[in-house]
Amino acid sequence: MGCQAPEPAPLLATIDLAVRFGGFEAVRDVSIAVGPRAVHAVIGPNGAGKTTLFNAISGFVKPMRGSIVFAGADVTDHAPDRLARLGLARSFQICSIFPNLTVGDNIRVALTRDLSGWQLLRRRGRSDGLDARLERVLREAGLENEGGRRAGDLSYGRRRLLEIVTTIALEPKLLLLDEPTAGLAREDVAPVIALIRKVATRCGVLLVEHNLSVVESLATRVTVLAGGAVLCEGPYREVARDARVIAAYIGTPRNA
Ligand code: ADP
Ligand code: MG
Repeated sequence: MGCQAPEPAPLLATIDLAVRFGGFEAVRDVSIAVGPRAVHAVIGPNGAGKTTLFNAISGFVKPMRGSIVFAGADVTDHAPDRLARLGLARSFQICSIFPNLTVGDNIRVALTRDLSGWQLLRRRGRSDGLDARLERVLREAGLENEGGRRAGDLSYGRRRLLEIVTTIALEPKLLLLDEPTAGLAREDVAPVIALIRKVATRCGVLLVEHNLSVVESLATRVTVLAGGAVLCEGPYREVARDARVIAAYIGTPRNA
């Protein structure tokens, strides 16, 4: 018998996944596998199909072909809320928080999202450890001094941090992040990287990211998409020197 440890089963796998819009195939036979505590980045030029792939994985668009396996179960036709209950959480390319609520209340909403209205009524006035969890996630994101501030008054960088926090509050098994550093000022990128790194110690992360230095510092594996299909896959340092990847990026405007 060999002494090599077996590869851990992937947390998420897409097998020959394809998504079509009318006559146009935006995702073409994409197979990727994400490990339970891996940060897997999907990169590629504008229009490569990255967001569509995310939408298919998280149940927002229906694939035309192929399958999706999550935590050992076939989830190909699951709706987003069902996937969320199984532990698949996602953020969007556009920041989506409640600007009129405080930072703390944004997180409280996220922490109680899995409760029914009846359960919420029953727990009114009790803290049930909620405050302790709230403190912990605020601290983890470096937002501990901002729990009482109106979320809409935060800087853009802090709002993105808050958005990531709301997606991880329920301790998902897999977190999908679509361009978490898009539009951030240079000094706001490092806190987002630090938070993703902490989160990745307890769940898998699948990340679309244009900033290649972010990819380099976080990703264990990188899949390059171009024209809806996988161009290549591997560790960042291999992918970054692949001539096809360099060619696909040259002269391509980066996403805003
Ligand atoms: P990326 O995130 O890599 O920039 P997208 O997944 O957003 O790319 O888009 C991939 C391609 O699919 C683009 O050509 C885009 O115009 C097209 N597309 C995306 N969503 C739709 C849709 N709902 N209907 C029709 N075409 C779409
Ligand atoms: Mg996109």
